[in-house]
Amino acid sequence: DIAAPPITFGNRFAQELPELTVSWRAEKFPEPRLLVLDETLARDLGLDPGWLASAEGVRLLIGESVPPGAQPVAQAYAGHQFGGYSPRLGDGRALLLGELTDSAGGLRDVHLKGSGRTPFARGGDGLAAVGPMLREYVISRAMHALGIPTTRSLAVIGTGGTVYRETALPGAVLVRVAASHLRVGSFQYARAIGDPDLLRRLADHAIARHHPDADSYLGLFEAVVTAQASLIARWMLVGFIHGVMNTDNMTISGETIDYGPCAFLDAFDPATVYSSIDHAGRYSYRNQPIIAEWNLARLAEALLPLIHDDKEQAVALATSALERFRPQYQQAWVSGMLAKLGLPADADGGELIDEMVAAMQAAKVDHTSFFRELAAAGRGSAPAPMADGWMARWRALGPDLDAMDRVNPIFIPRNHLVEEALAAATAGDLEPVNRLVEVVSAPFSERPGLERYAEPAPREFCDGFQTF
Ligand code: AMP
Ligand code: MG
Ligand code: MG
Repeated sequence: DIAAPPITFGNRFAQELPELTVSWRAEKFPEPRLLVLDETLARDLGLDPGWLASAEGVRLLIGESVPPGAQPVAQAYAGHQFGGYSPRLGDGRALLLGELTDSAGGLRDVHLKGSGRTPFARGGDGLAAVGPMLREYVISRAMHALGIPTTRSLAVIGTGGTVYRETALPGAVLVRVAASHLRVGSFQYARAIGDPDLLRRLADHAIARHHPDADSYLGLFEAVVTAQASLIARWMLVGFIHGVMNTDNMTISGETIDYGPCAFLDAFDPATVYSSIDHAGRYSYRNQPIIAEWNLARLAEALLPLIHDDKEQAVALATSALERFRPQYQQAWVSGMLAKLGLPADADGGELIDEMVAAMQAAKVDHTSFFRELAAAGRGSAPAPMADGWMARWRALGPDLDAMDRVNPIFIPRNHLVEEALAAATAGDLEPVNRLVEVVSAPFSERPGLERYAEPAPREFCDGFQTF
């Protein structure tokens, strides 16, 4: 009883790049139930939220009924994981259902995560638990509301099945929407196959979808460098730690992807690592720019044959393009930090910023509330979070305090609130997740009764906090 789906899907990736796909179907789950749905995103994709919430809609969302035009595939990619190369990763528990066009005319992937084992699953069970899928839902919604490029989360569907991790957990499928799922690792895979035509088609596909102004393959690489320099600066400015910046978790589009053990900084300490598997701190907060640059070097290596026929010249061209990453990142970070201080992008605030960052670190201030307190102190309605001399020099530059409140969030998905909401959801109560999503969806606007969501975590929570 597969009812008429509301819309026709595209299958451009599967058609243009068959070598990077395996046709596959989602596992059949016992009792699918819609847990959360981003209705605004649904409408933007031309999908009726009411229909999606119906039994037929849920069957589409969980991959049970395949809509017209859709050709579900598992995507192949390679990747460096914690620095070590794996030639064949791919979607072990995910499927690209197909593509839709959003209201702005952009092509968007509709992708399922936790939809069962695929030929890339290796030892994995192909499944996902409610907690981690809702975690991606909550954090990606917050990132979008913060204006940071990100894959989106359309829905999470409880499968009715059980997933075995350290303990038995309720299973779920996440429906993710992205500009594409092209990763640095996609290029590494295409390069490793040794088929120059495939690599060229992949690059052409990436240019057409993401970087149409690039007029050469070197131009494509430069565009990815620029997009990533800007993205990582945005992460740093808001205190976001991705946690697993493997090359398969870095997009060509410049969107944040693959929310695993990610978290926002509580107390400001640049060495912060939350991920339980990141023993060496490779993906600590402060390492993120340097890791992005390292990943981009791996992308450059994959693209070399397209950049120039002569290997040495290709290396020279790619190297000078990669050298733009640091100044672009620095420029994006400084102008973002000036905006956080209410100052114009051409203000002479370099020393103020350096002193402030050092003081924030020494006092281990709460990274998020610090900037709101600074604006409040500027208005005379709160104690100064910095020493008098610094405050005087900052005031002399004439900061725009209202502009500060438009870029410095009050509400981020704080770790203790996320943990609390996910634990409740795992036990069957979705109210805390819904409430948290509502709060972080309007991160800059002060509303009564939400003080609890703006407060730093209790100290005992922060010490030794780990994500999984
Ligand atoms: P991630 O750490 O989520 O970026 O995943 C890294 C790789 O492991 C990807 O190839 C995933 O598809 C795969 N993977 C992660 N979890 C599972 C699972 N439960 N079953 C099968 N494959 C998985
Ligand atoms: Mg991944
Ligand atoms: Mg993944």
